[in-house]
Amino acid sequence: MVISFDLDDLLIPGTKKFDTESQNLFQKITGVEKIRKGTIALFRELRERGHSIYIYTSSYRKQSSINFIFKSHGIPVDFAINRQIHNKELKERKNISSKLPSAFGIDLHIDDSDGVAIEGERFNFRIIIIKEDDCNWIKSILNKI
Ligand SMILES: [Mg+2]
Repeated sequence: MVISFDLDDLLIPGTKKFDTESQNLFQKITGVEKIRKGTIALFRELRERGHSIYIYTSSYRKQSSINFIFKSHGIPVDFAINRQIHNKELKERKNISSKLPSAFGIDLHIDDSDGVAIEGERFNFRIIIIKEDDCNWIKSILNKI
């Protein structure tokens, strides 16, 4: 399966706060963004199970910056969709939803936003919503896959 992950407030703390993976000196020096505690174990487990991992963010972060975050932790992602790529694809489809995983061949999307869950019902794509206080978020995902 192709599984995509949102960034802000799901894997990267912003308005929502959660524990993060520890950073090595290289990551501290380069100022790479911190990622949610458990991400490394989860991505490794998904790889082991043969899944592809995408990032799907509404932010304007460069693809190279997104790739770098995960590569620096030893868990490279297969593809990163940012706002520019999303806008271009949906413009061609004349669709105005904030996310449309099915347009990128994604089978399952993980996000923190209830709004995206509503779009999932409307546009018929599979989604799992993870709350900021879900300490067992890894299990929540693995159990539903
Ligand atoms: Mg989010």
